[in-house]
Amino acid sequence: MKAAVMKELNRIVVREVKEPACGDREAILKVAACAVCGSDIRIYHYGNDRVKFPAIIGHEIAGEIVEVGSMVAQLKAGDRVALGADVPCGTCFWCTNGMGTNCSINYAIGYQFPGGFQEYMLLNETTLRYGPVTRIPTGLSFQEAALAEPLACAINGLELARFGLGKSICIIGLGPIGCMMLELSRIYGASQVFAAQRSRTRLELARQFLPEARFIATEEEEIVETVLRETEGEGVDLAITTSGTVKAQEDAI
Ligand SMILES: [Zn+2]
Ligand SMILES: [Zn+2]
Repeated sequence: MKAAVMKELNRIVVREVKEPACGDREAILKVAACAVCGSDIRIYHYGNDRVKFPAIIGHEIAGEIVEVGSMVAQLKAGDRVALGADVPCGTCFWCTNGMGTNCSINYAIGYQFPGGFQEYMLLNETTLRYGPVTRIPTGLSFQEAALAEPLACAINGLELARFGLGKSICIIGLGPIGCMMLELSRIYGASQVFAAQRSRTRLELARQFLPEARFIATEEEEIVETVLRETEGEGVDLAITTSGTVKAQEDAI
């Protein structure tokens, strides 16, 4: 089978590798879609302590289960699933106390475990027992399902910020996550949505996700000034930055 193998920094080659073998408590996934995360780009350029080369990265994955071990009960061949990245170890202090997000080992697909930039991937026992493996409905395409992981990240952000019905929001940065935030703010029942983006082209692309939002092209309009003017000087309930620039953080505060 083919895999995109990262051999060293800034170098990924597509080559033939051995298909993974399925153990009794494991499963094999035929990868149908694997999106490229911002963190994949970071690993590609700068590496990561948890990624040892040669490595197969990629963790925004959807596909079909093609084989399960004899001891696996929760999945069967033919199941369509979406994966996430982080896999709690299930046995450390944090995991056994219900806080897998703080796991002291912090396994992840596309990090210590081979990821989705390959035709078939192994879902090992830890991943099947504790990891984010979710069955998806037939009507959902694999391409869409592969975005479940970044979408979950956006939802988690809004939940941590206690965003909800009737609140106002300003989203700064309209890349893929910013566009998800736009759709989510409508679903969460936002009363008023500001959406700021420097480049006009990207801003126009983002419009389709929530046409009624107040879009701010930051090369032409000041974010803070505009938001204050249009909220009677009160500002918004929540400012979210989905851009890494210093200016975005300053404007949000
Ligand atoms: Zn990701
Ligand atoms: Zn753990």
